[in-house]
Amino acid sequence: MISTSPNDMPETAPCFDCDGNTRRIWDEHTFPYGLGADTAELTVTLPVHVCPSCGPEFLDDEAEALKHEAVCAHLGVLSPKEIRGIRRMHGMSRAGFSKMINVDEATLVRWEEGILIQSAANDRRLRRLST
Ligand SMILES: [Zn+2]
Repeated sequence: MISTSPNDMPETAPCFDCDGNTRRIWDEHTFPYGLGADTAELTVTLPVHVCPSCGPEFLDDEAEALKHEAVCAHLGVLSPKEIRGIRRMHGMSRAGFSKMINVDEATLVRWEEGILIQSAANDRRLRRLST
């Protein structure tokens, strides 16, 4: 299970549907990942916003990022945050870093945004740069 630390996200936010404010709570979500016999149940604690007036709960971008992190942890690959961390450790821009590891800048952006998960070979290449 992935635990998360509190961050600077506000505890309340304006509701998308009414003039009210939503309240953020942390809730455990279990979701399936993978196909067929390889399907794993991943559990992650996610922020959920609850509006007292209209009630709908919604997950925000942060929740999506946390779910992605859980998938990366399950696969044993670096998370987008860790990839960004390695790049910043080297004090490099995305353009410079992508040249150094020999991938397209667009690919690096997808890894850092959590749109694409790097291959095992690229993950090893990144890890070699993390020390
Ligand atoms: Zn509302």
